Amino acid sequence: MSFKQMRLIEPLLLSLSSKGYTTPTQIQRETFAHAIAGRDMLGCAQTGTGKTAAFALPILQMLHGRKPQKHTQGKAGRTPEKRAIRALVLSPTRELAAQIGDSFRNYGKNLDLRGTVIFGGVNQRPQVQSLKRGVDIAVATPGRLMDLLNQRALNLNSVEILVLDEADRMLDMGFIHDIRKIIGMMPKKRQTLMFSATMPKSIQVFADKILTDPAVVKIAAKTKTAETVKQSGYLIDPRSKADLLDKLLEDKDMTRTLVFSRTKRGADKITKRLNGSGFTAEAIHSNKTQNARMKALQNFKTGRTLVLVASDIAARGLDVNDISHVVNFDMPGDAETYVHRIGRSGRAGVKGQAITFCSYDERRTLRDIEKMIGTQITLLKHSIPAPSPKASASPTGQRPTKSAGGSKRKPSNGAKRNAWQKKSSQGQSNAAPASGRAKPSRRRARPSKTTKR
Ligand code: AMP
Repeated sequence: MSFKQMRLIEPLLLSLSSKGYTTPTQIQRETFAHAIAGRDMLGCAQTGTGKTAAFALPILQMLHGRKPQKHTQGKAGRTPEKRAIRALVLSPTRELAAQIGDSFRNYGKNLDLRGTVIFGGVNQRPQVQSLKRGVDIAVATPGRLMDLLNQRALNLNSVEILVLDEADRMLDMGFIHDIRKIIGMMPKKRQTLMFSATMPKSIQVFADKILTDPAVVKIAAKTKTAETVKQSGYLIDPRSKADLLDKLLEDKDMTRTLVFSRTKRGADKITKRLNGSGFTAEAIHSNKTQNARMKALQNFKTGRTLVLVASDIAARGLDVNDISHVVNFDMPGDAETYVHRIGRSGRAGVKGQAITFCSYDERRTLRDIEKMIGTQITLLKHSIPAPSPKASASPTGQRPTKSAGGSKRKPSNGAKRNAWQKKSSQGQSNAAPASGRAKPSRRRARPSKTTKR
């Protein structure tokens, strides 16, 4: 089935073809007819399956086809002609919200619909201003949305469609109360689309409360890894992990590598060590400012940095095309986290590799993960010599005497506009086109101070 056969309107077909999408993914095929018919929906899909477009395309098509309602925003009667928020998408993280906003902007570029992204960690003024100008679609994280609702910077009286994306993560992150309040502020008569990577009991109970006779679309079992990701691992002394990572990164096939650390501090240490070894690397975690996170993500997307080192929460929902490798520098604690992490690679049919570093006392966890995902993770041999007894026991394997030079990146400054009629700060359109994308330099030209191995 093609997008045309799904009866997508011409402006959407045009924007999809300009992105090079020819065939709908399974979730897009299976959800479109239900969504366009106005049904509530519960979608269980792994990340990377194309689920953003699975809700964005029908929403854009529906809003385009319906007459916008006139509404009043702020004090009654003051701004009667302004657009009302007709579709609200709730997302657990700022990065995911920004990415969903980008998707709406890309897919809807040939339509007369306006949108904005609302999330915390940045100045709220541009967000409030875009709301004042009037938007049809808002993508928001629950915390900042609640702040703005409390300040009466917007109202949800005209919401016709609500999307809860990554609902499982929103519940895990404790957003349930905010979400309940937000839902209480919108019309009862609306369409609700709920997506979740996993379907634990709590999600089912929640879905029963807020959905009416939903169409249920299940795309993959919760612990199934994408077949497009080749999985392997190394048994390694924790003190040698950093050496192994350096060695692996010499491979020119590692064109865009996402490294997972268990802790924020660990992520910073790994980044510092990689910079010291001459690799371009940046860290992304919740201690960084929102602008620094967006800048790091943008540099990774455009190939300015070869390696992005992330903690789990920050990496959830990251949508970066062509991640060649995911490296679990620290072993994930459970199969679900493993599946989410490695799902950053091998997205939308493209091949990727996942490499997991496993210390000797983590072999049991590895076996448990293998059991849950029903796949054996091939353990490969490496040639990293055993660390000397004097070597640092730091999780990064960083030698205490070594200068860490090289990571003198300035934090980005200034919150960028986030209305998607204008270029968003994370917009793919800011990146060089795929064909001419900047080639990541494997190591910096400047000789590194570090004497390696
Ligand atoms: P998602 O699961 O929504 O995060 O999407 C994963 C990736 O697949 C994103 O980079 C999308 O832009 C891309 N994508 C979505 N739909 C398609 C499609 N029909 N064909 C090719 N790529 C797609």
